[in-house]
Amino acid sequence: MKLSARSKKIQPSATLAVTALARELKSAGHPVLSFSAGEPDFTSPPSAVSAAHEAIDRGETHYTANSGIPELKRAILSYYKAHFGLEYAASELIVSNGAKQVLYELAQSLVDPGDEVLLFAPAWVSYAEQISMAEGKPVAVDTVGSGFIPEGDVVRRAITDKTVGMIINTPNNPTGVVYGPDTLATLAGLARAHDLWIVYDEIYERLVYGAAKHHNILQIAPDIRDRVIIVNGVSKAYSMTGWRIGYALGSKEIIARMDALQGNLTSNASSIAQWAAVGAIEGAEPEVELCRAEFERRRDMLCGMLSGINGLKLLSPDGAFYIFLDVRDTPIPDDIEFCRRILEDKHVALVPGAAFFAPGFIRMSYACSEDDIRDGASRIKSFIESL
Ligand code: PMP
Ligand code: GLU
Repeated sequence: MKLSARSKKIQPSATLAVTALARELKSAGHPVLSFSAGEPDFTSPPSAVSAAHEAIDRGETHYTANSGIPELKRAILSYYKAHFGLEYAASELIVSNGAKQVLYELAQSLVDPGDEVLLFAPAWVSYAEQISMAEGKPVAVDTVGSGFIPEGDVVRRAITDKTVGMIINTPNNPTGVVYGPDTLATLAGLARAHDLWIVYDEIYERLVYGAAKHHNILQIAPDIRDRVIIVNGVSKAYSMTGWRIGYALGSKEIIARMDALQGNLTSNASSIAQWAAVGAIEGAEPEVELCRAEFERRRDMLCGMLSGINGLKLLSPDGAFYIFLDVRDTPIPDDIEFCRRILEDKHVALVPGAAFFAPGFIRMSYACSEDDIRDGASRIKSFIESL
């Protein structure tokens, strides 16, 4: 069979690949501890589960409106008004099968062959791949030297006459940093000055810790509303990764293009999952806070256990549920080799930073039990000490 040149260029998702490998080793009987998965370990909130059961019992098992059921759209629009003071119309919102599909539809709707899109590296694995699938060119702007925060001058130098937009992800996967108002104002200013769009992925917005505060970029720069597309979903805030509900808010024009694409790609997101999302958004605020507080406790515990290990450097993350470890001063400075060896020797699964355009780093998710965190941190310590 002749495979298309396009399909052969697509790289599998590195995060999903490590997670699958860890699962495989575990089911073959190896005592693997996996810190690779980017998903909360909590069960979905009761309000989501009961809304799904009720939807099935009512027979809500048919195609829905392509861009989402009115009830979910109303819940999302009220949420954005209440949490961010942002008002959108139903025609400015589309619900898809996870934020991943939303981002794919955006890449297809915004990027022409040869267009350049700025990413702030370290950057989540699928952004670059999706831009490449649209025949665009992902341009990774390095933030490693500035505490994982993009600096205005560095970003400006990366802009060319081919640059069409940028993807901002805060709280950030994989670093856990949260961009402050000054950074957001700088990026908004660059978008304004160079006529760029901004895809604003705030899927971890509910997971911020200590004094850190998350802002939507439109709270900082309301005048750029027409060039911003907000991406969010229920996966992370409500521990609902498997239900596959994500959404985008943006101008009517861009949402209409995504709607046309989605109508030919998957049609609506699952009717039952959409009802579950209504249940979550309208009824799961207490669970969101419980999970957030629990992640904060785990973060503090993990940072405490990993600090002071010879050669290993870390920045305590302000958000999301990842810690991005600098292994460049350990005896194995190569992140891919580090991850391979620690999986072999200590059965600990971690994701190499190279997958996020950041060689020399490794990502560890703390979306797992306290026992696993303790055990994992001590295996990492004894691994490095044994080298
Ligand atoms: N954006 C970021 C930064 C993520 O980490 C994820 C997690 N996979 C997604 C988008 C997609 O999430 P989902 O498709 O589960 O909504
Ligand atoms: N976002 C998560 C991660 O980065 C889930 C896996 C994926 O979709 O990439 O691990």
